[in-house]
Amino acid sequence: MAKPHIFVVEDEEALSLLLRYNLEAEGFAVDTISRGDEAELRLRESRPDLMLLDWMLPGLSGIELCRRLRSRQETADLPIIMLTARGEEDERIRGLAIGADDYVVKPFSVPELIARVKAMLRRAHPEVVSQRLQVADLELDRETLRVYRNGREVNLGPTEFRLLEFLMQSPGRVFSRAQLLDSVWGHDIYVDERTVDVHVGRLRKSINYGRLKDPIRTVRSAGYAFDEQFGRS
Ligand code: CA
Repeated sequence: MAKPHIFVVEDEEALSLLLRYNLEAEGFAVDTISRGDEAELRLRESRPDLMLLDWMLPGLSGIELCRRLRSRQETADLPIIMLTARGEEDERIRGLAIGADDYVVKPFSVPELIARVKAMLRRAHPEVVSQRLQVADLELDRETLRVYRNGREVNLGPTEFRLLEFLMQSPGRVFSRAQLLDSVWGHDIYVDERTVDVHVGRLRKSINYGRLKDPIRTVRSAGYAFDEQFGRS
C-alpha cells in the first residue's frame, strides 16, 4: 500500500527526528532534509504529498523555496505547512502571502501538527488518506486488500492490486511504462517494460468480466491512465 509521503525540511536535528518518529508512527513515509537547496533538488526528483518547511534554513530559506515552488507548475499546488519561530509574526503573514497553506509556531504540539497534516491531506489528496478508493462500480479497499467490480469481488494478484491502486489515485494522468515500473515495482528491480503490458492485461481481464467497461486507457506510445471519464457516461 502506498503511504502518504511527507518531506520534513528542518535543520534542527532534534526536531526533525521527533517529527520523523511521530509521522512514521502515524503511517506516513518520511524524508528528512536539512537544507533548503537540497530540498529544492529533491523536489525535482520526486514529489511528496505534503511538505513541512522550516522558515530559517541553510542553503536556501524556507520562504524563498516556497515562493519558487509556487511559481513552478509541477509544485504550484503542493501542500506546504511552514514551521516558524515565535515572534516572526510579520514573517508568518508573508509566508501565507507567498503561498504556504498553513503554518505552526514553534514550539508546537506534535499531535496538533499531525492533526493539521491529516486535515490538509484530506483536503488536498482525499485519495491518499482514505481507506477505500471508489470510482463508479469499481471499488478498492486498501485495508482488506480487496477489489470489487459491480458488487462482486474480483481476485487480483499483488502486482495487479498495486497497479490498480496507483492508477486509481490519479485519474486522467498518463503514466509511462517506466514510471509505472518505478512506482509499482520499485526502483531497485530490473523488469522489462513489456512486463507492464502483461500485468495491465491481467488486471483488465480480472476487472472487466462480462461486458463491463474498461476503466484503463491505453495511450499510444505514452503509457496507461485510469480513464477520468470512467463512470461518467
Ligand atoms: Ca531553522
